[in-house]
Amino acid sequence: MKDNLLNFLKDCLLDVLSPEYCAVCGKFLIGKHRKIACEECWKIHVKPFSGKRCILCGYPLNLAPGSEPLCRDCLEKKKKFSFSGISYFGLYSGLLEIAIKVFKIGKRRDIGEEIGKTISIHFKNFISRNRIDFVIPVPLHIDELKIRGFNQCHLILSAADISFIDGVEKKYKGKKQALLSKEERRENVKGLFSVKREIVSKIKGKRLCIFDDIFTTGSTVNEIAKELIKAGVDTIYVYTVARSIKEAK
Ligand SMILES: [Zn+2]
Ligand SMILES: [Zn+2]
Repeated sequence: MKDNLLNFLKDCLLDVLSPEYCAVCGKFLIGKHRKIACEECWKIHVKPFSGKRCILCGYPLNLAPGSEPLCRDCLEKKKKFSFSGISYFGLYSGLLEIAIKVFKIGKRRDIGEEIGKTISIHFKNFISRNRIDFVIPVPLHIDELKIRGFNQCHLILSAADISFIDGVEKKYKGKKQALLSKEERRENVKGLFSVKREIVSKIKGKRLCIFDDIFTTGSTVNEIAKELIKAGVDTIYVYTVARSIKEAK
């Protein structure tokens, strides 16, 4: 009871000190509705992507009836992944893109928690449909963790009520992927990750799902998938909160 009252007072104080408004309709966000958008706009704009997509890389497609469900790059075999499939909750655009940016750059854990709750059922369905044994989130390097204060994937998964094993280590920082070209991204992630020794016997022959917040070219998750395959994992899927629609050049 006391905690509830304290939280209520904290919300009231935050409302007065730093009022927030819905990014879509401009409505004043009161107390528990502090998540970048009001309940109504969040429900309308942050929902699973149901359109057609490339069966290999998940890129959204405008398909003519009878055409192959592959994007141009996959059709020309420019991409080769070590994982068997990818799914995602939504496209990296609109309100979901804003929410992820504010969550990560603004270090707004409350928004990350809201994202986790929002994707929970969709991701759980994916896990059971693909008979996934373990979920492995993309790790941060220790220096990146110090700067952000939290691993965004861990926070989202916890809020989504999905258990995971923190089984991969990021050994080096590497350059920021967002600033690099497709080719540079592939080179940049080479040798960055290693599977933690203590989980090897647990994951041998199992079906795993790598979890990340955004899928752009797939270089990071693919590099992790390669390491997991080397460690004896049977099948790997990828699930992300969002799929970027701006391909890296
Ligand atoms: Zn609104
Ligand atoms: Zn594709």
